[in-house]
Amino acid sequence: MEMRLRRVAKRLCLGPLRAPTAQSPIDNSLRFSNQGRGEAGTFVAREPEYEGYWRATIDERSDLPWPTPDTEWTGRAVFLRFLDGIEAHAERIAYRGMSICRVCGRLNGHEGLRLAGWEWPAGYKHYIADHGVRPSLAFERYILGLTDDFTRR
Ligand SMILES: [Zn+2]
Repeated sequence: MEMRLRRVAKRLCLGPLRAPTAQSPIDNSLRFSNQGRGEAGTFVAREPEYEGYWRATIDERSDLPWPTPDTEWTGRAVFLRFLDGIEAHAERIAYRGMSICRVCGRLNGHEGLRLAGWEWPAGYKHYIADHGVRPSLAFERYILGLTDDFTRR
């Protein structure tokens, strides 16, 4: 049971955004689940939302998207600036290998970034900046919302 709890807790992304403490997110969530609040007060563990992960080739049968440009998007420069700021706060997760850009073939990062319930590859920025990809609306709102949180402190 304890192992399972730890595994679940490890997947939680309780970034200390609003109330930074010295405790790790794992400690927080274990404490929370040990409070015996019953079903109603139980924090529901969930997988992070993923953004910026592509299928391996354009023809691969996969639910993952393929990077396609949206040249009409006017929020790119602002978004990229905010993304830089957010990435400085994110937890970094090492990949087992290098990621290759699906569009131009360059080596494009070797880690994922995780913060407050989302996970995205470090190389995602390259697709947005150099290949005109526009993030999902949900991710765009998430980054802009977090930026508000960080700048208000
Ligand atoms: Zn590229």
